[in-house]
Amino acid sequence: MSSLGFRLIYTLINIRENVACERVFYVPEERPRSVESGLELSEFDVVGFSLQYEEDYVNLVKMLLSSGIPVWRSERDEKNPLIVAGGVCAIENPMPLSDFIDVFLIGDGEALIEQLIDICVEERGKHARMEALSKIDGFYVPGLNDGKVKRVWCKSIEDIFCPTMQVIPVKEEKGLTPVFGRSFLLEIARGCERGCRFCLIGFCGRPRRIRSERRLRQLMEEGIKQSGVRKVTLIAPSISGLKIVDLCWEAVNAGLEISLPSLSIDAVTDDLLDAIVEGGQRTVTIAPEAGTENMRIKINKPFSDEEIIATAEKIEERGLSLKAYFIIGLPYEKEEDVDAIAKLIDRISKSGGRKLKVSVNPFVPKPHTPFSWVPQNSLQTLRYKRARIQKLLRGKRINLEGMDLRKAFIEAFLSLGGSEISRIIELAARYGGGLGGWRRAFKESKFKAEHIYKFRSPDEEQPWEIVDVGVNKQFLIKEWERAIDGVQTPPYSHCKECMICDY
Ligand code: SF4
Repeated sequence: MSSLGFRLIYTLINIRENVACERVFYVPEERPRSVESGLELSEFDVVGFSLQYEEDYVNLVKMLLSSGIPVWRSERDEKNPLIVAGGVCAIENPMPLSDFIDVFLIGDGEALIEQLIDICVEERGKHARMEALSKIDGFYVPGLNDGKVKRVWCKSIEDIFCPTMQVIPVKEEKGLTPVFGRSFLLEIARGCERGCRFCLIGFCGRPRRIRSERRLRQLMEEGIKQSGVRKVTLIAPSISGLKIVDLCWEAVNAGLEISLPSLSIDAVTDDLLDAIVEGGQRTVTIAPEAGTENMRIKINKPFSDEEIIATAEKIEERGLSLKAYFIIGLPYEKEEDVDAIAKLIDRISKSGGRKLKVSVNPFVPKPHTPFSWVPQNSLQTLRYKRARIQKLLRGKRINLEGMDLRKAFIEAFLSLGGSEISRIIELAARYGGGLGGWRRAFKESKFKAEHIYKFRSPDEEQPWEIVDVGVNKQFLIKEWERAIDGVQTPPYSHCKECMICDY
């Protein structure tokens, strides 16, 4: 419900005359039924999953199981719906789900969904549809086009369809309330080329595409009117370098609430913060990620301590609550880097009067990034590092949180795996999901996922390389070498090194 992509696909399909799209959400222990008509999944011609987080893979299987649809695609026939999946995880690595899904959409929804629907309308029968889709760039049909699959994307987002009439719940309902509240979601930019070397979107989402101020103004006006809300949330992976201050003030002066979910450290200006305060936002999030400048150069997010502290001061001077994100277990992290996280958190906390919120999460190697070959720290090491930070900050006015460290291993396992792990996903789903389900699944399958803790050579073909995201592999290797040498790559340099511009 919170995802803009989800709202976009829903609207894109429903504006067509001959097709109807309904929404189904995962609710634990409930048989999935559509919100609109109460139909079960098995009653639809096509069932589409939006894959935003790896931990949802188990939920996808659970939804198929509880709908009575055979989980394995090899066991389904023409009577079963066509099962499709898209979203960032499909682009990242479709292989762990390739035994469950009939068709993956690899790329931007706007570039693919029309073709999917056209084929489903024109072709009779599931197999005929799969055959036809397997011949089109951006569709991966396991078993039919198992070579390289090209990701496809919109060259510009300026004039592509934007859902201005978004379906937003009138009242708060369990499991259906969007994260950003009752808000019109406006995409101001797509993709990011800052090049933080751990970041999936920073590589899989390239190139960066920006909407003009003129177009944003027009969409905001229409969206607020048609969606019937008084709040606008501006969506972009990073707002660095974007001109949005005037737009924010226009929204505020029109009596709207505004929200910017995450602020880039180099984009926080006095004027922008004043607009945010006037627009009713109460908490601002920044992500320094690492504690030392040296480590921040390695990950290619080279802000100085002074820039981070100055940004925190500006935020807290205005009475805003601040939340800061850090990563432990980054490549070549030493004990002093871990200690430096605690020191930096302490310095940030002293810049304001409120209790600082901090989230410390483990590094998870992601496909198609320069750190995709890097081992993840063991659970024991991660526990030690987080406990060390907690100890160094004991007694300070800091609210420290973070994901369950055991889940970081599962996320890496799902991000990096091939089709051989589908059996374990299915077992984990049958055992109820959650950590208990995963523990039983690993035990029963006797699968050892030791590769997560080892360096994976770039010379060895990895499962996710079935997807050609458009970024040159040699560039990723060069970026990895630059990380080792502590060399920065300037953001948004239009250098042509990654080759996305020539794709
Ligand atoms: S700024 Fe860095 S972390 Fe944020 S989206 Fe861009 S590449 Fe990713």
